[in-house]
Amino acid sequence: MENVESTDGIFCKLFLILRFESLKDLDQSFEKLGSKLTVFRGNPKEIFEMLFSSKKVKNLFYEKDTEPYAKTRDKIVSDLCSKNNIQIHSFLGHTLYDPEDIIKNNGGKAPLQYSKLQTIIKKLPKIQECVRDPSKSEIIPFKDIDGLLKLIKYKGDITIPCINELNHKNENNYEKPTALIKGGETEALKIMKEYLKDKKKAANFEKPKTSPVAFNPVSTTTLSPFLKFGCLSVRKFYFELNNILKEIPNHSQPPCSLLGQLYWREFFYCASVGVPNFNKMEGNPICKQIDWLLNNPNDEDEKGKKYLNAWSEGMTGYPWIDAIMKQLRQEGWIHHLARHCVACFLTRGDLYVNWERGMEVFEELLLDADYALNAGNWLWLSGTSSFFSAYFRMYSPVAFPKKYDPDGKYVRKYLPVLKDMPKEFIYEPWKAPKSVQEKVGCVIGIDYPERIVDHDVKNNFYLNLGN
Ligand code: FAD
Repeated sequence: MENVESTDGIFCKLFLILRFESLKDLDQSFEKLGSKLTVFRGNPKEIFEMLFSSKKVKNLFYEKDTEPYAKTRDKIVSDLCSKNNIQIHSFLGHTLYDPEDIIKNNGGKAPLQYSKLQTIIKKLPKIQECVRDPSKSEIIPFKDIDGLLKLIKYKGDITIPCINELNHKNENNYEKPTALIKGGETEALKIMKEYLKDKKKAANFEKPKTSPVAFNPVSTTTLSPFLKFGCLSVRKFYFELNNILKEIPNHSQPPCSLLGQLYWREFFYCASVGVPNFNKMEGNPICKQIDWLLNNPNDEDEKGKKYLNAWSEGMTGYPWIDAIMKQLRQEGWIHHLARHCVACFLTRGDLYVNWERGMEVFEELLLDADYALNAGNWLWLSGTSSFFSAYFRMYSPVAFPKKYDPDGKYVRKYLPVLKDMPKEFIYEPWKAPKSVQEKVGCVIGIDYPERIVDHDVKNNFYLNLGN
C-alpha cells in the first residue's frame, strides 16, 4: 500500500481491513468453541423476519447501542420480536455506565460539565465486572445454525465478507496496509497488555504531556478503534487499569489521567444520548448557531469548498496541518492534540468552515470514527458548544509544533517534499529564501502550496470578534 495515489481508496481500504480482521478474529474464536460467525447480508428487519419464520428462535440477545441509526434498527427488530413472542435480552457493554442512568440522576439532562459527570458516577452502583468467556457448552454449535438455515431453505452466503466483497477494487495490495492498527480482539488485548506493562507510565499518564508527534511508538494507547468496534471491552480496560492504580496510589487524576480519558468517553456518550441533533449545528440546543462557510455542504460556495478541500487533502501550505492530514489519510489515526490542531484550524482558528464538514471528513478517514466522540469533540474544538468556553485558546500551526518537534521530524516523515528543508523554515517554508527552496527541491507554489490564509491575520481578526 505504499505510494498508493488515490487517497480515498486508502481510507476506505484501511477501514475495511480493520473490519475484516476483526470479523476473522471473532470467527476464529467461535471456531475454537465449535461454532462459527454467521454473517447475513441484507436489511436487518428482513433477515430477522426470515429467521423467525423457522419458529425455532426463542431468545434474542444483543448489546445496547446508543447511536440514532442503531436505536431505530433495534426498535424495529424488538417490535418484530414482540410480534413473534421472542424474548429479548439486551445488555450494557459499550460504556462503563448506562448513559440513561446518568441522565436520570442529573434531573433528566445529560451533564454538560465533566466535573458534574464525575459527581454523578460516584453515586451510581459500581461498574459491573466483565462477563467471563463462554465455555463450549454455552455456545450454539454450528450444526444447529446449519439446521436452522436448512429449515428455512436459506441459500445465501453466511461466510464473513472478504475485502473484495466489501467493495474494494484492488484486493491484492491488502497484505501491506499502511495503518499502524490491525483489527480484532487478539490484537487489542496485545496492545492493551503491552501499554499497561509499564505500570508507572500507565498510572502517571497525563494526556497534555503526551506528544502529538511521536510516531514510533506513538504516545497514547491507540486503543480507540478497538473500543469503538467493541473488539476491546471498555470494562476490561477499566478493570486492568484500576488494578494498576490500586498498586500505585500516587497516580495522576481525571480529567488528564488514562482513567480520565475513559470518563471523557462516558461524558460524550452521555451527551450524545441526551442532546437532540448532537452531530449537527441546526436543531442542537447546546450548539451556538454561527454563520460558518459551508453551513450547507451543497452550498455553491467556492471559497468554502476550496478551503475544505485544501484542508482535507493536506494542501493548506502549513506543514504542521498538512502533515497531520497526510498521517490521517495514510494511517487512519492521529494523536488527540493533532486532532485539536486541525479541527481548530478548519473552524474558529483559520478557515471558518462549519465543524460538521470536518467531522464528516474525520468520519470517513478515522479508523476510530465514532458518532458520539467525533461530534462531541468537534463541538468542543469549534468552540460552539456550551461545554467549552475557552474559545480564545488557539493552536498556532507554527509555534505549537515547535514545542514538541523543533527539528520537524514528524513533518519530514509525512511530507517528504519538505524532508531537506532547513529546520528554521520547516514550519514556515514560505520564509525560506528562493535559493534555499530551489536547493532543497521544494519551491513554494510549485512543489508545495502557498499558504491558503495568513494565520496571524486570521487569528487577530477572530480574537477581535471574540472580544
Ligand atoms: P488514549 O489517550 O490512549 O485514551 C484511551 C481511550 O479514551 C481512547 O481510546 C478513547 O476511547 C478515550 N478517549 C480519549 N480521549 C478522548 C476524548 N477527548 N473524548 C472521548 N474519548 C476519549 N475519538 C474516537 O474514538 N473517535 C472519534 O471519532 C474521535 N473524534 C475526535 C475528533 C476530534 C476533533 C478530537 C479533538 C478528538 C476526537 N476523538 C475521537 C478523541 C480522541 O482524540 C481519541 O479518542 C484518541 O486520540 C484516541 O487515541 P488513543 O486510543 O491512543 O487515546
